[in-house]
Order: sequence, then C-alpha cells, then structure tokens
Amino acid sequence: MLAELKGLNEECGLFGIWGHPDAAQVTYYGLHSLQHRGQEGTGMVLANEQKLTSVKGEGLVTEVLTAEKMQTLSGNAAIGHVRYTTAGGGGLENVQPLLFNFQSESMAMAHNGNIVNADQLKSQLESQGSIFHSTSDTEVLAHLIRKGGSAELKGRIKDGLNSLKGAYAYLIMTDSELFVAMDPNGLRPLSLGLLGDAYVVASETCALDIVGAEFIRDIEPGELLIINDKGIVSERFAACKQRSMCTMEYVYFSRPDSNIDGINVHTARKNLGKQLAVEKYIDADVVTGVPDSGNSAAIGYAEASGIPYEMGLLKNRYVGRTFIQPSQSLREQGVKMKLSPVRGVVDGKRVVMVDDSIVRGTTSKRIVQMLKDAGAKEVHVLISSPPIKNPCFYGIDTSDKDELIAAKKSVEEIRELIGADSLTFLSVEGTVEAIGRPFEGENRGQCLACFNGKYPTEIYSDQEIDYIKC
Ligand code: SF4
Repeated sequence: MLAELKGLNEECGLFGIWGHPDAAQVTYYGLHSLQHRGQEGTGMVLANEQKLTSVKGEGLVTEVLTAEKMQTLSGNAAIGHVRYTTAGGGGLENVQPLLFNFQSESMAMAHNGNIVNADQLKSQLESQGSIFHSTSDTEVLAHLIRKGGSAELKGRIKDGLNSLKGAYAYLIMTDSELFVAMDPNGLRPLSLGLLGDAYVVASETCALDIVGAEFIRDIEPGELLIINDKGIVSERFAACKQRSMCTMEYVYFSRPDSNIDGINVHTARKNLGKQLAVEKYIDADVVTGVPDSGNSAAIGYAEASGIPYEMGLLKNRYVGRTFIQPSQSLREQGVKMKLSPVRGVVDGKRVVMVDDSIVRGTTSKRIVQMLKDAGAKEVHVLISSPPIKNPCFYGIDTSDKDELIAAKKSVEEIRELIGADSLTFLSVEGTVEAIGRPFEGENRGQCLACFNGKYPTEIYSDQEIDYIKC
C-alpha cells in the first residue's frame, strides 16, 4: 500500500560514494532512487579539496537538490540522505547528513535506523558538557566519537559504535575517508558496489543499479569499512550477532527491484503471496493487489491459486505532496485521491484483495468500501504478513502500540471493522519460509519483533509491550 496512507514509514535512505569526479551527480541519482524510503528531508555533503560542503532542505530530492544548486556542487566524494520525520522530529536541523566542524576535524554523518539507548547516552553526554544541535538520535555518535579516548579517529568511531544499541547503518565522512558501519544484528540493508574505480554504498541495490555500479556485497553485521584514496579495508567493531534483517524490508519498504542478502524483493513478495494461497484458498473470481507493494504478493497468490490476477485498483501517480501528511484526517482523504477501483474489473465479482500489512485499519476499510461501491460482490482481504501487534523501535514509524489495530483487536474484530467478507493474515512461520532466509547460521535470520514481540536487542521503552529478548 501507499506509505503515506498506511502510516507505516521507513525513516531513511543512505547513499555514499568515494573517488568519483561527479560524486554530486551520482549521489543525486542514487538518492532519487531511494526516495520511497523518506520524502520529507534531503541532504548531501561533498568532500572537495579538504573541505566538506553541505546542502540540505526539507522536501523531495528534486525540490532540495534543484538544477541550479546541483551546478554549484563539486567534489569526488559524497554522502547523501533522504528522511522521513519521526525520531527526533522535523526541522532543518534534523535533516541529514549532519555536518560537524570541530577545531581539529570536520565530519559528516548520515544514519538509517534508530538508536534505542539514545536518550540515556544523551543525558550522560550532556552531563559531561556536550551540547546537541539537533534532536536526532544520530548526533549521539558524533559526541561519542569526539569524546573517545583513542587518538586515532577509526578507534574512536569503533568505541562510539560499541556504545550504541539498536539499528544503525552509518555513513561517516571526513575530507580523507569514508567509514561505513552496520549494527551487530544487521537490522537494516546496506550494500557495497563499484562504479569504475569509485566505491559506492547504498541502502538498497536499486540505487547501485540506477547509477550503473556493480554490486559487490552486502555490509556485514558489526562491520566497519574504511574507504579512502588507497582503497578499501574491512574491519570489525563488534562480533556479528544473530542476523536480524527487518522482515518489513521484504514485505513492504524496499523497492521490488532491490535484492537484500541475495533475495530479490519482488520474488520474496511473490512467494509471500504463494504461501498465502497455501494457507488460505478463497473461492473467488479475481485477485487484485493494493498498489504498489501489494501487487507482487497478489501475483503470487493468483499464480498459486489459479484465480486470474487483475488490476482492480489503480494508483493515481500525479497527486502532489499536499496529501502526504502524517495526520489521520488527511490520510483518510488521501485514500480517495490516490487510489481508484477499476469498476470494469470488480463489478459483480468475488474479489480477493491482497495487501502487505494492516497498521491502523482505517485505510483497508476505505479500500474495501471502494471496491464494494464499484460493484464487488464479495471482498476477501488477504495480508501477506502476520498481524503487527508490537511497536518497532528500529527506525520504522510504529513506535506507539496504541496505534496498532492488531494489538487491540482479534482478526475477526478487524474483519468486521474493515467490512471485509473474510480476512486472513499470513502465519509467522509461513512468512519466514516464503522469504527464504531461515535462521540457519548467524547471517540468515530476520527480525520479526513487530509480529512476535521477540526484539533482537535490548529496548528502552515505558510502553507495556510483550518484550522477549532473544
Ligand atoms: S520490529 Fe518489525 S519493522 Fe521493526 S525492524 Fe523488526 S521486523 Fe522491521
């Protein structure tokens, strides 16, 4: 479903490049392909002749990095960031990359994920005299690095990273080096590629493809890459814990043309749809997906069930950002603006409507009603993931349990509320099986905490949640 309607938002996308004469332009295209990961803030820092230059603003890549602005930017290394406003709130000061100019060094920093012990670390650092310039949890690492005991920057970065708990993919750039780090559980995707002689890192492989970079490999949990003019070195700052890649990256967030740990996202979604057909066969006339992220699972369901796949819902691609507002009233209005039923497909039919997830339930209700108003005889809702019962503390915008309908209501109660003729969620076991990265070996597991409450790290929350530390 459409991110801004669902109320389930990724916080960020990262892109970095070292050793390319057109670093700014390449980063622009990379960020543009990651726009789905955040639409409310865009930034880029360039390294040019031992100087770091920052350009950033609130808005889409094309709005912030205008043609005029791009003409003024040059350098042979850059890091960039797109952001959705949740952790730390909005405002220009929270748009990344953050740039720190200390007396002896300058450093730019971009982060995807969420530091769960940021408040504790911040209090400690403030009591030791640190002054924070943003409310973003990302800045905590900069202060830890600054205060670190080691003389060498790399050592201070490693020490700082070891104090953090939670989910983080970090890009840290100075005028002479680019550091790339992944948390010890590897919760967020981050890939390394090569463009000519330049190293490229990106939150998703679709960004490597767009800029013409060759994929090398995914960044490993607990790994620190150091990239400079001499080449690339891989070191560890922490031992790899059980890999806990976010399941929702496959189900919903990532672009279908991206691969995460060698698994194509479209294929994973299709397999989730096929698994749904194994777990629940519906006697129906057509299968339709809720665009865009429900489409791949709908194709899989149709293929496995033998029921024809049809385009029963159409997405209007030309609605402005006016309707991308994280408030309930505008979200509801936005459904009508962004989706239309195809009457000729659904009229008089028993429809299977496949979507990737249900967060609050209000959008599903409107879409079911939309299909019924267009003449659908029955609407059976199939969800290609388990019910989201627990908040995410790792950078996805579901940190309040009260907003999650499945935390409060049974499947039957949700069905009644959304007005569907039947409602089926995929099982947790079926989800793991369909995606195809079973918990064999430390590098293949995935985070399922929003479904089963098993959080892969410590969490620091005053909410009552079913917390099981795995
Ligand atoms: S809790 Fe859910 S959304 Fe958050 S990282 Fe884990 S799987 Fe992803």
